[in-house]
Amino acid sequence: MRKKICIIGSGTAGLQLAYSLKEEFDVTVIHSTSSDKIRNGRVMSTQVHFGSTRNRENRFKMPKWEDKTLLKSVHMTIGNQKLFVGKLKEPALSVDQRFYFSQCLKDLENKGVSFRLMRVNKSDIESLVDEFDLIIDCTGKSGPLFPFPIEKEISPFQVPQRKCIVGYFLGVKPNNPLGISVTVLPEMGEMFEIPAMTEQGPVTILFVMAIPNRELDAFKEIKHAKEFTNQMKNVTQKYFQGIHERIEQDIFALSDEKAFLQVAIKPVIRKPYVTFNNKLVVGCGDSVFLNDPITGQGCNLSSYCAEQLYETLIQYRDSNWDTQLGEAYWDRTKIFVREVTEWTNAMTQVLPEHIVQLLLTGVENQKIADEVAEWFEEPQKAYEAFFQLQD
Ligand SMILES: Cc1cc2nc3c(=O)[nH]c(=O)nc-3n(C[C@H](O)[C@H](O)[C@H](O)COP(=O)(O)OP(=O)(O)OC[C@H]3O[C@@H](n4cnc5c(N)ncnc54)[C@H](O)[C@@H]3O)c2cc1C
Repeated sequence: MRKKICIIGSGTAGLQLAYSLKEEFDVTVIHSTSSDKIRNGRVMSTQVHFGSTRNRENRFKMPKWEDKTLLKSVHMTIGNQKLFVGKLKEPALSVDQRFYFSQCLKDLENKGVSFRLMRVNKSDIESLVDEFDLIIDCTGKSGPLFPFPIEKEISPFQVPQRKCIVGYFLGVKPNNPLGISVTVLPEMGEMFEIPAMTEQGPVTILFVMAIPNRELDAFKEIKHAKEFTNQMKNVTQKYFQGIHERIEQDIFALSDEKAFLQVAIKPVIRKPYVTFNNKLVVGCGDSVFLNDPITGQGCNLSSYCAEQLYETLIQYRDSNWDTQLGEAYWDRTKIFVREVTEWTNAMTQVLPEHIVQLLLTGVENQKIADEVAEWFEEPQKAYEAFFQLQD
């Protein structure tokens, strides 16, 4: 008999797990929002999928996306000084999660995966644990539903370090070569400009990461699309001239009424397994590994851990599923989780002097510029640059 797995949550982690596990196990996905509601709802993220994540999507035969907005570079600016354009090793892609998730849900349904549409409450979890051989908690930042213990050493923050202010816009001429633009404004925050694909076509995401209560934290109380657009215009004019110059004033607008978002995340990392009513439960994605979005690693970390969980479950397919499996999964993931987390946490603080010097070296040295771009696709390298050069 095939073992029965229940995945709670159908975001980046839950969907990749469903694709990878459906051949070997009897998979049920429980999700709180129908694909139509997701499609017509609010944007959720900026979701840059770097090369390794896109390779995993291919490995597990996930849907393919139009590649009009492939991101091949990272443009780096500090203040008003453009430093360099570094090349990514493999192209990255940002597809609006409303489009991505709803397409994957339909595709998985056609491929025979079972779905239940319900929001799981804490009062439901005992009966689910009884019903299935394994529950995977993929409830994202609103989770977890289970008491996964916090890893205190790598969860240092008591409050969010940034306000995340995101809008998907029409009317921004793309940067050249097409890529992600990162602008650091010391003591204020950052701006990420990300060309992306939506169901209606290409857009430019403007993503302000504001240090709370400093100058960039200028969107408080803004609830309406028009007000949001006007404020983004003001903010780019005042602080991000390089972007403002590419705004076509007469057509600059949100791509739809729900294409903006404001959120603040308190990062917290948990051990991704726990015993509940004498059964193993595991977590994957933001429910257990929740970082600030500043390094754009959330989807990539979720996808990496989903693949490691898949490999662990295949390895233990014919054994008992107990804490040994949980520990094997954690063993496979903890080094990468730690490196991504410590780099991300460091990026939310004042940049260390040796990193500022390295970024300045990139102005004259293309090899360094390319290495900095590669931090985003291979975060281990960023970790090494941030922490090992300090010795
Ligand atoms: C502003 C912002 C910008 C970001 N930018 C990037 C970026 O550029 N690159 C990147 O890699 N990452 C980025 N991220 C992070 C990335 O979006 C997340 O890390 C990633 O989506 C996490 O995947 P997940 O599957 O864990 O959670 P999610 O994708 O959030 O999915 C969780 C799912 O669980 C469902 N759910 C929750 N609770 C329940 C329940 N009780 N019952 C049933 N279903 C439930 C939700 O409806 C949802 O479908 C960003 C995040 C934010 C907020």
